[in-house]
This record gives sequence, structure tokens and C-alpha cells, in this order.
Amino acid sequence: MKDSKLYIENSLTRQKELFTPLNPGFVGMYVCGPTVYSDVHLGNCRTFVSFDIMYRYLLYLGYKVRYVRNITDVGHLLDDGEDRMSKGAKADNLEPMEVAQKYSNGFHQMMSVFNVLPPSIEPRATGHIIEQIEMVQSILDNGYAYEANGSVYFDTLAFAKDHNYGELSGRVIDELLAESRDNLKHQGEKKHPSDFAIWMKADENHLMKWNSPWSVGFPGWHLECSAMSTKYLGKTFDFHGGGNDLKFPHHENEIAQNMGACGCTPAKYWVHTNMLLMNGRKMSKSDGNTISPGELFTGDSVHVTKGYSPMVVRFFMLQCHYNSTLDLTDGGLAAAEKGYHRLFEAYKHLQALETEGGDGAINATINGLLDQAFDDMNDDFNTPKALSRLFEVVTLINKLVDGHENVNDLTEATLQRMQSDFHALLFDIFGLKEHESSSSDHDKMDGLMELLLDLRAQAREQKDWGTSDKIRDQLAALNIVVKDGKEGTSWTINS
Ligand code: AMP
Ligand code: ZN
Repeated sequence: MKDSKLYIENSLTRQKELFTPLNPGFVGMYVCGPTVYSDVHLGNCRTFVSFDIMYRYLLYLGYKVRYVRNITDVGHLLDDGEDRMSKGAKADNLEPMEVAQKYSNGFHQMMSVFNVLPPSIEPRATGHIIEQIEMVQSILDNGYAYEANGSVYFDTLAFAKDHNYGELSGRVIDELLAESRDNLKHQGEKKHPSDFAIWMKADENHLMKWNSPWSVGFPGWHLECSAMSTKYLGKTFDFHGGGNDLKFPHHENEIAQNMGACGCTPAKYWVHTNMLLMNGRKMSKSDGNTISPGELFTGDSVHVTKGYSPMVVRFFMLQCHYNSTLDLTDGGLAAAEKGYHRLFEAYKHLQALETEGGDGAINATINGLLDQAFDDMNDDFNTPKALSRLFEVVTLINKLVDGHENVNDLTEATLQRMQSDFHALLFDIFGLKEHESSSSDHDKMDGLMELLLDLRAQAREQKDWGTSDKIRDQLAALNIVVKDGKEGTSWTINS
């Protein structure tokens, strides 16, 4: 175990707290996974990349981490009460399980493209119906739920008499009246509008339903995370994460269910990531302010002037703290691309540096910056600050390479530390990969592509379609896509 003090902003207490796991050396970590009824979007990717950094950093510190990230494949209803999976199934004319498989596959592929480590356990809600039924029964037995017409509702007023309902979101019951995202059809069965369904009776047309002591039905959405975190991490575990849009009602109700069933709060530290915006506004399909990961990689969107590789997008995400909103803009991505190449070029030079072992003042400067980079990571996983320290070291590396600083002023120990810390931060902790070409390779590639596209343009002018098609097709075979638009011809590399 590394001897370092990690502080985490705990959403439950609204304070930055020293991270002390329940069992020294071990961490139990649960993160709400995707609802697999449509393609994963960039906002989801940001959230899972953020938790990937936390997972990686805990591993780097030497903890043995059990990371559980679920797949929601039942129970997450739309505002009109329809199950998201059924909606996906009807739209694509598939079995609900086919929908779940299709979008789980897509999600896994996208996570791998972004170099997100797989969790230790990835449980599915539909694989844990028995555990969920048992939990409903425990909540009923403890007097915090009631049955109405085959459905079972969590009794928020009964619960609030004994416990603090609203602790995480900071809302009081009266404020919650109008906000329940539950099935509106069943509002009439509830004793209080803030009560929420933990088991729902299914109507005849409902596609996904199971037998239970109360009705043929299906579990409420919040229940799966309570049941699966308890099953795999215990009644109380260390860390629970999700996007901050899940704080209420999902996480608030999760806490209430765990308290109601087991008598204790599930997680010690609750961590919430902030939202991804685009051009200063919420990403939204309905007003066109949206871009898919694929479109971002190929550049096939009005919102970007070119494609950006997944590692550049990951690096772009790291430049913002997980707790702040991140605004996706073409300018921001272009700047990230430059920074990314600068960092990796310096890393390559660093691996080739050799010193005769002097003892200049530069040693203290570099060691100080590297210490600070890890202090930043210990300060609630502050990746943008840690990166800015690395860039200060990059400036020094470049000076050592071009002779503005004397490489022989470095001690052997400093040089070795720089090489190993850069490696640990870039690859193990930030999870970046170096499959991108360097910026000088980029310049050469740009020059070559310009030449080829000029030749193609000349061929087209001369109506020599054979040559122009040959250039385009052979580039396509190399995964280089040429696009002819109003503003000229552009190209991107498909990853
Ligand atoms: P969902 O598939 O909708 O259940 O979401 C999966 C995860 O992505 C949850 O933790 C959400 O909070 C998170 N998420 C959804 N939209 C965004 C967004 N625009 N930015 C960041 N995270 C998001
Ligand atoms: Zn959840």
C-alpha cells in the first residue's frame, strides 16, 4: 500500500473527507451502470471515464478493489410509465433481452475504445429478481412499505418518522410531492405522492414480468442497485457513485430502501459526477445540440471541424474536474489534441534521456512538481491540476532536450522517478494510450494527405474519375474517409 492520504468530496455529508475504507486495504465500490435501451451517449462516457480514473487511482494506491457496475435492463421507466427496454424492443422489433444484449455490447465496445477498465462484477437487474423480491419483503416486514392492488410502495412518511429521508439530495418530503418520477398511472394507489413503487404489478401487455408474492410484475428501478450492492459488497460498503442527475430520486431512494431493509446506510462515501454539456448547453437530441461518440471520432457532425481520436477525447475529459460541468467545444477539443501530443512527445523524449548524475537545483523543482501532481490526485482526484503540474515538467523536459537546461544536472534518482511517475500517471492512472502518432508524424501525414487530395481534385477537374475514385477507395481501405463538403474536402481516420 502506498502511504498517502486520499480525500474525497462526499455528497452525503457535503464535505471533503479522508478516505478510510471499512476494511483496511480493501475497497468496495459500486457505480450505477447504463440503462441498455439505446446507444451509449457521450455524457454516459464522461461519467464512466471519471469513475474509471477513481478506480485506477485506488488500484494504483495499492487497494484491492471490488468494483461493481450494474447493467439496468428492467424497471427504469419513462415519464409516461413505459419501461425503457420495452420501448426499445417495440421500436426495433426485438425481444427485450435482444435489446439489452445489443446495447450492452455497444456499451462494452465504447468503454474499450475509451480504455475504461471493466468492473470486477457487472450484474444485471433481470438476473437478480429473487434478491429484489426478498428485499421488498424485508422492507414490508419492517413496516416501511405497503401493498396496494398488487403493487408495493415504499412508505416515505413511515420511514421519515424513524429515519432521515432526503439526506442525500437535501430535499424535504413536501418538496418531493410533485417530483416523483414514478409510474403516473399508479399515483392513485399511493398514500403519499413521495412514496415510490418497489414492486409494480404489470398489465397484460407488459413485456417483462415475473411472479412474486404480490402480483406478476417487475421491480422498481431503484431497487436493483440496493439489492445488487448488498449482495456483492455487503450491507455497508465504501464507495457509491453515479452522475449527479441520479442523486434524486434514484440514490435517495436507494438509501431509503437499504435503511428500510437492513437498517443501515449502504455506502460511506457517495460520489457524484457532473454533466457533459456542448457549446454551453445541455446536450439534447430534440434541439440538435448533440453529437455521438462515433460522429466525434469521424468528424461527421456540424459541431466539429474534424474528427478527434478517443484518446484525445479522454484527455479532454481529464482536463476538467469530475465535479464540474464539462463543455464540449470544437476549440476545446482542438486544444486538447495539441496538449495530448505535446505530453506524449515529451514522454518519448523523457524515456531516452540519460544523465551523468549531477545535483542541480532542477532536481528539487521537478520532485516538487511530481509530489504536487500526486497531492492533486489525493485531493479528490483532481486530474486537471495534476495535468497542469505534468505540463510544467514537460516544459523542463523540453529544455533538457534542447539544451536550455543541462541534463547532467539531474540525479539518476530524479530521472528515474520522472520516467516511472510519468508512466504511472499517463498509463495506469489517467488510462491514456499512446497509439496516436506524434505531432511531427501528424504534420507529415497532413502534408501527404494534402498532396493526395490535390491530385484527386486535379483528376476530378479533368473528369478522370478512375484516378479520383482509386485515391478515395484506397484511402478508405486504410480507414481514411474523404468527405467533400461545401467548404472543401476534408479527411478523417476511422478508429
Ligand atoms: P443512464 O444510462 O441514463 O442510466 O445513465 C448512465 C450514467 O450516465 C448515469 O450515472 C448518469 O448519471 C450518467 N449521465 C447521463 N447523462 C449524462 C451527461 N449528460 N453527462 C454526464 N453523465 C451523464
Ligand atoms: Zn443505481
